Amino acid sequence: MSNLAYKRILLKLSGEVLMGEQGAGIDPHTVQRLASEINDLCRAGIELGLVIGGGNIIRGAEKASEALDRVTGDHMGMLATVINALAMQDALEHMGQQVRVMSALKINQVCEDYIRRRAVRHLEKGRVVIFAAGTGNPFFTTDSAASLRAIEIGADLLIKATKVNGVYSADPVKVADAVFYPELTYDEALDQRLNVMDTTALVLCRDHSIPLRVMNVFQTGAIMRLAQGEAIGSLIVSEK
Ligand code: UDP
Repeated sequence: MSNLAYKRILLKLSGEVLMGEQGAGIDPHTVQRLASEINDLCRAGIELGLVIGGGNIIRGAEKASEALDRVTGDHMGMLATVINALAMQDALEHMGQQVRVMSALKINQVCEDYIRRRAVRHLEKGRVVIFAAGTGNPFFTTDSAASLRAIEIGADLLIKATKVNGVYSADPVKVADAVFYPELTYDEALDQRLNVMDTTALVLCRDHSIPLRVMNVFQTGAIMRLAQGEAIGSLIVSEK
């Protein structure tokens, strides 16, 4: 345990990372690969909370139209995060890791209701806690849910695991000379409207001084090295 730089981490995975090379849905091999990295972290002694998005299945704002009301779309999006959480729970359990899915919406025949004190107890016992159904409210995102839960459980670090290496001045896929930022403040990210997380999520993290790492989840072993203190990806802090 001594080589760990953090005790409790909240890891946010976007729904898209679960779909692997597929255009949508859940790729079981990708879920297994991610579960294996998460399992390694827990075995090393990290107390781990997970928030998984639902973008691989449905995003409310994208589906909202005259035919589908936004709130209904967001309810569907939140349920999509529960589907992803169950897939990850299953993969982790097959590796022998204890897991609890806790939902912000009440569906307690499928998983536990989210109760903060109970979530913290699960973490103390070494169980992975997957926070499902976002914040439980429409018009929010799972980035905001990740910030909120990270603060509630007293995480030392929030990790946003994505498909890119960190924060850039522009989309590095589209802009060849996009500048990579190894370290920046939340205010810089907000002022420059950088594509890090939505405003609500950034402001929550800033006001509660929780550090955020944005990193590429497809670099094998990177999450573990980050947990051991290596400067991987971009670091966003309240004050430099
Ligand atoms: N959602 C919501 N409230 C929340 C979190 C999520 O209504 O607190 C809905 C919203 O429709 C969102 C969808 O769930 O588009 C999936 O979440 P998100 O888009 O954050 O997933 P990601 O992009 O991380 O895969």
